[in-house]
This record gives sequence, structure tokens and C-alpha cells, in this order.
Amino acid sequence: MTGQERSEEKSECVSLSPIRDAVPAQPKCERVSVFGTGDLGRSLGLRLLQAGYGVVFGSRRPHSISHLPHGAQVLGHAAAAQSAHLFFIAVQREHYDFLVPLAKQLKGKVLVDVSNNLRKNQYPEANAEYLQSLVPGAEVVKGFNTLSAWSLQNGPSDANRQVYICGEGVEAKQAVMAVATKLGFSALDRGSLSVARELEDFPLQLFPQWRLPLHIAIGLSAAFFFYLLIRDIIYAYVTQGKDISFRIMVSLANKVCPIVSLIMLSLCYLPGVLASFLQLYRGTKYRSDLCVCECVCIHVYNTMYMCVSTLHDQKYIRENRTTEFDTTTAWRGDSYLSLGILGFGLYILLGITSLPSVSNVLSWREFSFIQSKLGHLTLLLCTAHTYLYGWNRFLSSSTYRWYTPPGYMLCLVIPSVVLLLKLLLITPYTHTQNNTLVMMTALSSRHELLFLCYCTLRGWLPFNHRLPCFWDQKPTTFN
Ligand code: NAP
Repeated sequence: MTGQERSEEKSECVSLSPIRDAVPAQPKCERVSVFGTGDLGRSLGLRLLQAGYGVVFGSRRPHSISHLPHGAQVLGHAAAAQSAHLFFIAVQREHYDFLVPLAKQLKGKVLVDVSNNLRKNQYPEANAEYLQSLVPGAEVVKGFNTLSAWSLQNGPSDANRQVYICGEGVEAKQAVMAVATKLGFSALDRGSLSVARELEDFPLQLFPQWRLPLHIAIGLSAAFFFYLLIRDIIYAYVTQGKDISFRIMVSLANKVCPIVSLIMLSLCYLPGVLASFLQLYRGTKYRSDLCVCECVCIHVYNTMYMCVSTLHDQKYIRENRTTEFDTTTAWRGDSYLSLGILGFGLYILLGITSLPSVSNVLSWREFSFIQSKLGHLTLLLCTAHTYLYGWNRFLSSSTYRWYTPPGYMLCLVIPSVVLLLKLLLITPYTHTQNNTLVMMTALSSRHELLFLCYCTLRGWLPFNHRLPCFWDQKPTTFN
């Protein structure tokens, strides 16, 4: 650095730490520079300072910048370009041309491109590649763009711990990964700079892994909704002239949700059992994100069920209707409820353990026990619950309106096939050490356990006070 440049740095330098001059000697710390004093630049600077780095901001207006993290220095761009070896470019891509005059100073240095775009394919090339073309002598590394300013300020959470890195220079990438690790993130090297566009698209994606499960859930819901609409509502209107279209809002939805959730649960395990038959002596592995969608369906079902039950009770009470007590029917009713509640509880457990924040803390064995063993048990309980719902109606011809089976019968097909195949697989003849597992991922939530307790309690509470009233035939007057 020439004497002139040094004096330029001195004149441009603004200390944001009033006590700095009072401290006789500061321990030497690695310096990192951040170009741009906007939201991300400031959050990054704060985090770097907290991790023990010396931070130098490069700004267009070094003398008029306020609210920067305590302890950071702010310089003009030219001076800042000489202050460190590693630079975060926290400036929008449209303004990258300010770096062109600094190309000489930045030669051989590491530039971390943190930029994102507003939409996919906004520019012909990735921002990091554009940056590299502007400053060809520098080592451009793409990274940190998947973190928000907010998450940087608040520190890494379980859900937001990953930092993706890509670039050409191995040493440059290692330097950036070392910084990421020191900030508390886990860095993942995604390869060369040609991957930058993919990394820049990450923040634009909305639940990418949920797309297929959502499409399946919506498709199944729509299909069953129209099927049941014809069988239940239109059938009643055509054959009896009865308008029961109000049932669309609660009763019909209450039928669609459990049907969809049971089919989706069985779809989680269907590929596994099929693969096990196809590859009895080979391991197989697949992913599915269906579980969270199923949990939503079953939760809606649970809520709807309580509404329908309450309406049903009120109707009985209003009409002062009583039915003769029958032990078999009581057994069937209690078993139906009990299996449903148990299945529902396990269902929620499956959903929760498929969340990354929870599954990350489970060992592989624990995870596979819950997702595989308890998963099949859940499927068994829910299927049995549905069979009990059908009870003796399977053989009654009046059940088949317009020669069509009711929805709950249709939804039993796939689960029954899956359970049958699973039963065959666990027999000594076909049992094998295959490692078929369902891996489920979804969005993170901090309220999973509360949700579990809430849902389980919701499952039990309404029945505790309703059932004695039904089975004991206590007369109640409508109020
Ligand atoms: P911002 O708040 O608008 O700040 C941008 C900074 O760029 C300004 O404060 C300014 O700093 C500098 N700048 C503006 N015009 C300039 C010019 N013509 N020449 C040189 N420097 C100029 O933006 P931000 O939210 O911090 O985002 C910065 C970058 O980080 C963007 O590329 C964005 O995509 C990326 N990013 C942001 C977030 C986030 O949560 N905000 C998350 C991930 C990635 P000076 O006034 O000090 O020069």
C-alpha cells in the first residue's frame, strides 16, 4: 500500500466505537469487509463482530452512515477494498459496476456474492457470474443468500442453519466456509460457480418439496368431493326430492378429509412394500412429504367430526329419540372411537417427527422406528377404524347408491393392499433385512409438541362427556 493510499484510508475512516481510542491495545482479529450498509450488510456485520471478526464497511457515504453495529469501521469503497482479504458484497446486482474501478485492489481477494433476484431468470446469467466478469481477478464465491437479514441478526435457528456455497476457487470457498462455521452455520459446498443460478433461485421457491403431496391431496379431495356430492346430495335430491345441500359445508368435508388422509398415509408406504417385493435382497430408499398434508387433513377431520357429532346429538335430544342399548353396537362404537383416537395420536407423531427440526435430533434408529414401525401401526389402526365405521354396511345393498360404493369403502382399497403386502413381507418366508424407509420433510415449527398435546386432548375430551349420555340412554331435554 502506498503512503498516499494509507493517508486516503485514514481520512476516509470513521470509527463507530467511541471507546476504541481509550483501549490501549486490541487483540488482533481477522478483518472482513462488507460492501453495502443496508439491511443485510448491517446484520452480517453485527454477526461477524459477535463472532470475533474485525468488520470494515465499504460505503458510498462513510461519513453520514449511522446505526452501524458498535465496533465496526466504515470506509469509502476504495479504502475498504484494501482493508481485508474477504469481502461480502451486500449491494444489489444493479449497482455492481461500482466495483469495476476497484478491480485492481480486489485482485486475488475473495468476493462473496450474497445477492438474490426478485424472480427466476431475471438476468441472462447468475449474479455471481456477472460479478466475476466485472472483477475477473477476484475469487467470487456465491453464498449466504439463503439467509435473511433477520435470521442473521437473531442467530442460526434449527431450520435455518444451512449455508450453501459455490465457486471456482477451492481456497476461496474454504475461507468462506470457515467464516460460515464461525458464525454458527453449517456450510455446504455445492460445487462450481455454474451452480450459482440454482442457489439464487432457492429463496424464490415456495415449499418446493410440498408440491407433489399438495397436488395429490388436492386431486384426491376434489375427486372424492364430487363423488360424494353425487352419491349423497344429488342422489337424495333426485330419488327423494330432499334438499340436503347444506351438508356440503361440514358433513361432506368431514367425509372427504379422513378418506384423503387414509389414502395418503397408505401411499407413503405403498412404494416401500412394492419395492420390498421387487428388491427383496437389495436396499431401497425413497422420499415422501405426504405426511404433513395428511396431518392437516386428519386435523380438519377431527374438528369437523366434533361439529357433526354435536349436531347429531342435538338432533337426538331435540327429537327426544332413544334407541335400545346393544352391547355389540356399544363395543363397535367404543372400538371405533378408541382406534380412531390412537391412530390420530400416532398420526400426529408421524407428522411431527417428519419435521426437520425434530427429525434432526433423532438417531437413525429412532427415526426409522417411528416412521416405519409406528407408521405401519398407524395405518393399521386407521384402517381398522374405517372398517369398524363400515361395520355391517359392507354387505347391505342399500349402501350402494346408484351401484356405487361409499367413499370410506373406496378409501380402504389401497391401505388394505399395503397392509396385506406388509403382512406377507413380515412372514418368515419373505422377511428380509431391506432398509426401506420413509423419509419425510416439511417446514419447521416451534409449536409441534403443543400441537400434539392439543390434538390428542381434542381427540379424547369430547367423547368423555358424550358417551355416557348415549350408552346409558339418559333422557335429556333440549334447551
Ligand atoms: P439495501 O438495504 O437496499 O442495501 C443495499 C446497500 O447497497 C445500500 O445500503 C447501499 O449502501 C448500497 N448501495 C446502494 N446503491 C448503491 C450504488 N449505486 N453503488 C454502490 N452501493 C450502493 O439492500 P439489502 O436488503 O441489504 O440487500 C443487499 C443485497 O443482499 C441484495 O443483493 C439482496 O438481494 C441480498 N440479500 C438480502 C437479504 C435481506 O434479508 N435483506 C437476504 C439475502 C440476500 P451504502 O449506502 O453504504 O453505499
